[in-house]
Amino acid sequence: MAQPNITCMKCYTTEKPKRVLGGRTAITALLCVGGIVAFIGFGVWLTQEANANRISPHTRLGFPELMVFIAPAFIYQISRFFNPRSVCAGCESSDVVPADSPRGREIQEKHA
Ligand SMILES: [Zn+2]
Repeated sequence: MAQPNITCMKCYTTEKPKRVLGGRTAITALLCVGGIVAFIGFGVWLTQEANANRISPHTRLGFPELMVFIAPAFIYQISRFFNPRSVCAGCESSDVVPADSPRGREIQEKHA
């Protein structure tokens, strides 16, 4: 896929942008940790309920249930692949403009 050049507003270089995943890795991590915590909490609650009602828990939490809890993290991570953003190849700043835009040309002339 041919990519137009971009001009970086931070380091003023004009070159092919680097494509990186959209969104934030921290959010994926947060959703993942949150899912695991909720999963453990749900497991504890389920065990307590089973004990209180003197019934044996038929639904033992396992891998499929864990998958349900961390599904939001997966969905978010997958969505990131479909929303890549262009960043400066030099300094990885996302503060970039198309090189052939008026602003891009202005910067190139100033910092040539
Ligand atoms: Zn840069």
